[in-house]
Amino acid sequence: MGREADFVIVGGGSAGCVLANRLSENSAYRVLLLEAGPPSDRFFVKMPAGASKLMGNPEVDWIHTTEPDPSANNRVGMWFAGKMLGGGSSINGMVYIRGAKHDYDGWAENGCHGWSWDEVLPYFLRSEDYRGSPAQTHAQGGPLTVSPLRMKHPLADTFVKACTEVGLRQVPDYCAGDIDGTFVNLVTQRNGQRWSSARAHIEPARNRPNLTVLTGALVDKVIMEGTTAVGVRFTHEGRDEECRASREVIVSAGSIQSAPVLLRSGIGPGAHLQSMGIAVCVDSPEVGKNLQEHASYASSRFVNIPTYNSMAGPAQLPGHLLNYLLFGKGLLTTPPVHAMAYYRSDPDLPDPDIKMQFGPFCMDRNTRKPHSRPGISVFTNVSPPKSRGEIRLRSPNPQDNPVIDHRLYGDPSDMTAMIKGLRFVDSIFEAPSMKPFIAGLNAPARPMRNDEEWADEIRAQSGIGFHAVATCRMGSDARSVVDPTLKVRGTSRLRVIDASIMPVMPSANTNAPAMMIGEKGADLILKDHR
Ligand SMILES: Cc1cc2nc3c(=O)[nH]c(=O)nc-3n(C[C@H](O)[C@H](O)[C@H](O)COP(=O)(O)OP(=O)(O)OC[C@H]3O[C@@H](n4cnc5c(N)ncnc54)[C@H](O)[C@@H]3O)c2cc1C
Repeated sequence: MGREADFVIVGGGSAGCVLANRLSENSAYRVLLLEAGPPSDRFFVKMPAGASKLMGNPEVDWIHTTEPDPSANNRVGMWFAGKMLGGGSSINGMVYIRGAKHDYDGWAENGCHGWSWDEVLPYFLRSEDYRGSPAQTHAQGGPLTVSPLRMKHPLADTFVKACTEVGLRQVPDYCAGDIDGTFVNLVTQRNGQRWSSARAHIEPARNRPNLTVLTGALVDKVIMEGTTAVGVRFTHEGRDEECRASREVIVSAGSIQSAPVLLRSGIGPGAHLQSMGIAVCVDSPEVGKNLQEHASYASSRFVNIPTYNSMAGPAQLPGHLLNYLLFGKGLLTTPPVHAMAYYRSDPDLPDPDIKMQFGPFCMDRNTRKPHSRPGISVFTNVSPPKSRGEIRLRSPNPQDNPVIDHRLYGDPSDMTAMIKGLRFVDSIFEAPSMKPFIAGLNAPARPMRNDEEWADEIRAQSGIGFHAVATCRMGSDARSVVDPTLKVRGTSRLRVIDASIMPVMPSANTNAPAMMIGEKGADLILKDHR
């Protein structure tokens, strides 16, 4: 083997960058971070509104396609995923949200000892450099800057008010474990620039002599000696290379790619490995299973005041660019989501199951491009979803994107909940504060008369929230892929540390939770090697 490090990290995304930083803080450890994509220093990554230029760009996006989804008219889905340093955090919508206390308490009650809300909150705080008004549940001085929106569209506050008019409460501090109601969200930005995991955790650590970051390094597999991980095999600059890991290999390739790395290494369901001609090292039945993703429907209305549809035309762009370059302000700092809300599709539910995100723009249903008329959208998810899917290998070749076999509405209760959620969204548009601004229907294109029409519309138009999780599920049971210390069952010196270890999706977008997993994972490793 050519190179050697104490810790080899596969994938420099939201969690992987945290790990590289925290493990290399101890100068005694040599850390090698292998990222398949390029560095994340391009202009459109740093400029928040540039995200639209990244999604679907094969240089920085894996652009996974799914199998036809029978629960959504057999449509093939496009699952974007960051392929560059920072991973999802370099391409995402920058919403900062941790989830609810009951999410993590539920994890702990179901065997993920050490992962209750009280036990994970310190790791959210450890990362954080909060730039908003003082609050107990935020921290300052950490690497990840979390800020209020620099330019909030006026209808964001109207959305929050409208939600209170139709029965939701306004949540005073949604980062304290209570998301039950409505609020204006925070973003992962510093001075109007995207603050990815790469900017937060790698840039400041880059000059450490004990940290090597290789971009353009596609990992094929973990090299196993018996059931012990001893290194990884990867290609870099057209050459096949191997690296020895004298302490541990950590797989942080995200929810769509960590399972394939394990599978190519011989860790996974035995029959599937054999069908791919891969020798079975550990027959681990749930590698790639349990896939959870937010189905998403964008309800939208035309409005009678300017929104980003009318504010971002070619004539206005030079002014916006100047404002951004000189002051780090204005439209180009804007994220897609400005406010959020949670609702119970059934009033008897103990916790909300419908998540809504308000955005001051709308898309043309036919072209899927920004509409020429000003509009607003509310993106609704069933959260957590009950539907499940799986990731499998398409071939043993790491160049081939894996098979994503998911049914967004495979569990009919998700469709039932979604319909109720979308009826509630209609009521927000009709609420006294919001109604005076509404100028017409965009999506759905006409009023829905009954549940059947809603279901048809949802099957035809739903997309995803880009929050895939749980394909390397953590648990205490023998079938789980990793144990609560994130060690891969049946192996030694091998962990998975990223969003794929979540047993159940939290009531949240998943970047801050993935970074929390990176922080806690680093702590678990460092404690073991003390
Ligand atoms: C378009 C989009 C919008 C989103 N918006 C939000 C949002 O606003 N707020 C929020 O909280 N969450 C959002 N998310 C979700 C969030 O960003 C992800 O859940 C999070 O980034 C996952 O972190 P991770 O560390 O598990 O994986 P990732 O960040 O995906 O990191 C995995 C890394 O591994 C690399 N990799 C994969 N395979 C290999 C290999 N074989 N060899 C080497 N490297 C490899 C990848 O290139 C990637 O850099 C969004 C995601 C997307 C895609």
